[in-house]
Amino acid sequence: MSVLVLGSIAIDSIKTQLEEHREVLGGSASYASISASFFTPVKLVGIVGSDFPREHIELFQSRGIGLDGLQVADGKTFRWSCEYEWDMNRRKTLSTELNVFENFTPKLPDSYKTTPIILLGNISPVLQNHVLEQLEDPRFIVADTMDLWITTTRPALLDLLKRVDLLVLNDSEARQLTEEASLIKAGRNILRLGPKFVAIKKGEHGCLLLSPDRFFSCGAFPLEDIRDPTGAGDAFAGGFTGYLASLQKEAFEFADLKKALVYGSLLASFCVESFSLDRIKSLSRKELDDRYKFFRLMSHFEVLE
Ligand code: AMP
Repeated sequence: MSVLVLGSIAIDSIKTQLEEHREVLGGSASYASISASFFTPVKLVGIVGSDFPREHIELFQSRGIGLDGLQVADGKTFRWSCEYEWDMNRRKTLSTELNVFENFTPKLPDSYKTTPIILLGNISPVLQNHVLEQLEDPRFIVADTMDLWITTTRPALLDLLKRVDLLVLNDSEARQLTEEASLIKAGRNILRLGPKFVAIKKGEHGCLLLSPDRFFSCGAFPLEDIRDPTGAGDAFAGGFTGYLASLQKEAFEFADLKKALVYGSLLASFCVESFSLDRIKSLSRKELDDRYKFFRLMSHFEVLE
């Protein structure tokens, strides 16, 4: 069962307190599609400029990622730069150059329209809605979002929430969206806005998963060295959605989503071990499964196989 991944494809420049890496591959769709490709075939929807390096296209191809929905436009690829503080939960965006992204209208190839599992990666909710309108009867829709859209495009985001199965967002965004301090209350309020499930990420403190009658809390994999947190949320969403798709089910139970959440968290843990996609692109399925087994034992999650 394949996954359609929509999102940004970027050239990032990232500075931490220890290192700086300029002009590396980034973007929500890049992290999410490579992460999902560990589990299932992926169809990418996004836009790049004519300057987009060939090696990045080859990386997507080497993972079997379908590129029929990738537009290559005249002009420069979306560029973004940021700087992290010592507390890597805190970062400052230094620049955002939309470039070809500014006039992006996703148009799905016919072969994409019946894709059963959809990941609307972090991108404007106007574009997320636009993609949903082109799909024929998707089975499960995951959407990611960020503070920018909660502030600037709230009505479109509220429309989107009525149509998605799972919303993924981080703790501060959940509080911002609902104006609730308690994450449990925030999660419950988000469910009232439409999604059947909500996953609230808490960075190094793990993640919560809520449905109207179920609750699951999962710690993060304990890492000693975090080099670059960029894209962790997108790797989480990609791993989560890719794993769900690999189950090949008509409908998903809460137990399926719990396992998906653990796989998503583990993809995120590998992602932050190095800059850009360097770690996840060299990751093997065996390394991922070994970390899953270790995490399961460590967490005493008897519910997980
Ligand atoms: P994350 O660390 O999960 O927030 O994702 C970081 C990625 O999001 C980077 O690789 C950026 O290129 C990308 N990004 C930053 N700002 C935006 C934006 N406004 N829209 C879409 N993608 C963005």
